[in-house]
Amino acid sequence: MSKPTKTELTKYRALLERQLASLRGDVGSMRDEALRASEKDASVDHLADQGTDNYDQGFMLGLIENEEETIQLIEEAIDRIDGKGDWEFGVCPMCQEEAEGSKKKDAAKKDKDAGKKAAAAKKPAKPAAKIDTWIPKPRLEYLPWARYCVRHQEAEERNRDSA
Ligand SMILES: [Zn+2]
Repeated sequence: MSKPTKTELTKYRALLERQLASLRGDVGSMRDEALRASEKDASVDHLADQGTDNYDQGFMLGLIENEEETIQLIEEAIDRIDGKGDWEFGVCPMCQEEAEGSKKKDAAKKDKDAGKKAAAAKKPAKPAAKIDTWIPKPRLEYLPWARYCVRHQEAEERNRDSA
């Protein structure tokens, strides 16, 4: 895997912007609909109808919540592309953490071997050298707002489910 090129970043950004606009539109119209449903509730005296309306509304609010979550992920991804995010776009921060962890272990080993060389190796680490921290491009094409690689995304979802 490799760092996304400028051209790729431009493409991902366009995808994200488009998705963001369409989700914002969706959420807006779903809100209107949920609102209309609740206004109707107030004027309708059929209890059965009210039951379905409440159900629809709950369903709709769930959808809105999901979409708002995605909107937030997209906004964060755009920030990352613009260099304003918490990490570089296209990097899996958890892979990066692992890479940094194993680098420290390497440095410790060298410390034992040769003292002077280790001091040089300890200089502020430049971008993770060998270990691949880039999210595979096919994943970014499909899900440009992905925060993690597939492996870490799954780990994250397991965490969330058990929480
Ligand atoms: Zn990862």
